[in-house]
Amino acid sequence: MKTYPIPMVPGPVKVHPAVLKAYKVDYGSADLEAEYLELYAQAEKNLKSLLETQYSVAILQGEGMMALWGALKSCLRPGDRVLSVATGVYGYGIADMAAAVGAEVRKVGLGHNETLSDLAACEKAVAEFKPKMITAVHCETPSGTLNPIEGLGRLKKAMSVPLLYVDAVSSVGGTSVRPDAWDIDLCLGGSQKCLSALPDTCFVAVSPKAWEVIEEIDYVGYDALKPFRTALEKHAFPYTPAWQATAGLNAGVQAVLEEGLEICYRRHDAVAAYCRKRLEETGYTLFPAPDAVPSPTVTAVHIPEGIPWAEFDARLRRHGLVVGGSYGPMAGKVFRLGHMGTQADRNLVDQALDILERTLSDR
Ligand SMILES: *Cc1c(COP(=O)(O)O)cnc(C)c1O
Repeated sequence: MKTYPIPMVPGPVKVHPAVLKAYKVDYGSADLEAEYLELYAQAEKNLKSLLETQYSVAILQGEGMMALWGALKSCLRPGDRVLSVATGVYGYGIADMAAAVGAEVRKVGLGHNETLSDLAACEKAVAEFKPKMITAVHCETPSGTLNPIEGLGRLKKAMSVPLLYVDAVSSVGGTSVRPDAWDIDLCLGGSQKCLSALPDTCFVAVSPKAWEVIEEIDYVGYDALKPFRTALEKHAFPYTPAWQATAGLNAGVQAVLEEGLEICYRRHDAVAAYCRKRLEETGYTLFPAPDAVPSPTVTAVHIPEGIPWAEFDARLRRHGLVVGGSYGPMAGKVFRLGHMGTQADRNLVDQALDILERTLSDR
């Protein structure tokens, strides 16, 4: 199997050595051993430190999409109103998912290269539509943008919207994400982005209000959140968890905590700023609009004129660099550099930029 020495895909990222080490252990025990409960409790405690939260954090076995679906299905009944703030593929996608669950959905939609700034449209929509839930995406990975969430949380609280649902899958671990301080009721994260673990676990920080709604909806299914409210106390998980997956996620979180949150976030900010600066100096055009907030975890860039994506990608791979393509309206037009987790590394970005520079001048 071919591997590439310069991995810059925005997830799954290069796995952290501590995560690999956690996978090599044969825990050799059934799921309901006291040791597993201890491991789960430790992983939850570490996630609470990472999210600076008092809320409980449910750890599910499945990647990010499982959290996205599970949180919607656990809180919504057909006919419930959902206001989706959409600035990219995931934002618009979550609106479609809520509609698929039977919700009545209204969107506050912006361009894929924009980020939320003026809350007037959201305020107007909340006043008219009176949603049960607002959904938003923190980092729009396919666009390389970061939506500010705090203002939306304040608006939610001031206008008494019951629930704020935030996809923070590609920001948790790379920049500050604070469910309690920002009034997020369902804060969703994944293992394979900034936490440098495998794509096998996801988690949801659940506010007391969200637990109330989850109890009332009583959704039953593989992705249901409800069993996790009492899993530890009842020693009952809804399916057999993989020890390695929970241990791997825990190792990824622990690595961030050991580095220190502030230091880790500063590393991401510095590498991202450096990456954008070098790209522009080299002659590339960044995808986000000039007044949009660029993400500290992923940079989206226009593919140079006159080179089809497949050829551009092949040229980079010949030099050992693999980047991400993009999706939706950006497919074939935008490529992405994932500088998150283990890949938020100045040296790695330098190697990638050397190749990108050569590829542009060889045109
Ligand atoms: C990666 C990602 C997800 C989860 O997608 P998976 O395919 O399950 O990895 C969800 N939201 C965002 C913003 C993401 O970047």
